[in-house]
Amino acid sequence: MTADPTKTTPIEGAMGLAATRELEERYLMRTYKRGAVDFVRGEGCHLYDAEGRQYLDFLAGISVCSLGHCHPAVVAAVTEQAARLMHVSNLFYTEPMTRLAQRLSESSLGGRVFFCNSGTEANEAAIKVARKHAHGRGIAAPEIVSFEGEFHGRTYGALSATPKLARNEALGPYLPGFVSVPDNDARALRAAVGPNTAAVLIEPIQGESGVWVTSEEALMAAREVCDEAGALLIFDEIQTGIGRTGSLWAYEQTPVRPDVITSAKALGGGMPIGACITGPAAAEALQPGDHGSTFAAGPIATGAALAVLDAVDDPALLRSVRELGARLRAGLEELPGVVGTRGRGLMVGVALEEGIDAPAVGADLLERGLVVNTPAADTIRLLPPLVVDADQIDKAVGLIGESLLVFGAHGR
Ligand SMILES: *Cc1c(COP(=O)(O)O)cnc(C)c1O
Repeated sequence: MTADPTKTTPIEGAMGLAATRELEERYLMRTYKRGAVDFVRGEGCHLYDAEGRQYLDFLAGISVCSLGHCHPAVVAAVTEQAARLMHVSNLFYTEPMTRLAQRLSESSLGGRVFFCNSGTEANEAAIKVARKHAHGRGIAAPEIVSFEGEFHGRTYGALSATPKLARNEALGPYLPGFVSVPDNDARALRAAVGPNTAAVLIEPIQGESGVWVTSEEALMAAREVCDEAGALLIFDEIQTGIGRTGSLWAYEQTPVRPDVITSAKALGGGMPIGACITGPAAAEALQPGDHGSTFAAGPIATGAALAVLDAVDDPALLRSVRELGARLRAGLEELPGVVGTRGRGLMVGVALEEGIDAPAVGADLLERGLVVNTPAADTIRLLPPLVVDADQIDKAVGLIGESLLVFGAHGR
């Protein structure tokens, strides 16, 4: 199943890492630290660099390529639609967006959908929904409450709702009206929510901070205080949604049902698209003129998302996500150097023994042909395509084990 890396052939016409890197260093804003590889092609769970070397991808473009790279159904949806009609704006009707909105609403909260082009924009829409809903209840200065370890995006609203990660005071001032409490602290949450609260905005599983599952107690407390205050409970399912945790939406495996969810990442199978999906309580909050986006809801992105949902919203695939997630975690937990795993389904955080530097392990794994991500100094994050198979899971566990031994894993 795994090609010998030495037997692969270079990609015709590819510039190669050295030349790509030189241009990147000269012309791109310095906002990203990149892994030392120039990817030129993807197929299923594999990526290929300019030299033709094969990599097993356990990051999937940060949980975007959940059907694997260049899934035939997504490629067909995109290419056929691109050849027929690419864009007309939201001033007219197009079929794919209406079918996708129906599908998202019927698969979740039953209300209305606003489309956009990214995760951060989906949260911007949710913030507008929450504030408008609050103004409708006579609240002049609405507040949105979140847990401290959350990540909601990089635009100013979403960043203002991101209490710690990505926070840089040199980018200030941030927006008023955002409050945070310590993770999973139900008491602090109860104390922070009151008559001015528009919404509680939470990730059911914190992704960017290293895969931390929000406790059931905290989720239930959030539901309760929102009900008491008349506020909206918003789940950011940008990373957890679209099957990642083994159900279409992560909230399905929790005891609570939110009023609004936001989606992006895997929704478009690689095409940029985000969505803010409401239940009945929030469906009518936004009215003409309140929000919009030129690119949003375009037929290519929404058509791709329909193809993604056709494949992901399948009980057999979702069962396999739960089973393979359990296999992955069981394998990892046997490895010397691993102190534990966190997550649900195929969203897995791997906690490393003290003294092992996760970013160094991540760089070493890339050299060994395994793509992962390290969101913290002691954590590896694994987000493989949902179509991964048991052999690929075992291979990744084996590679991580080999790497950890090099970094001085002692075992428990
Ligand atoms: C990735 C992510 C976002 C931001 O999405 P972008 O598409 O990068 O704007 C927001 N919330 C969560 C939970 C995410 O994982």
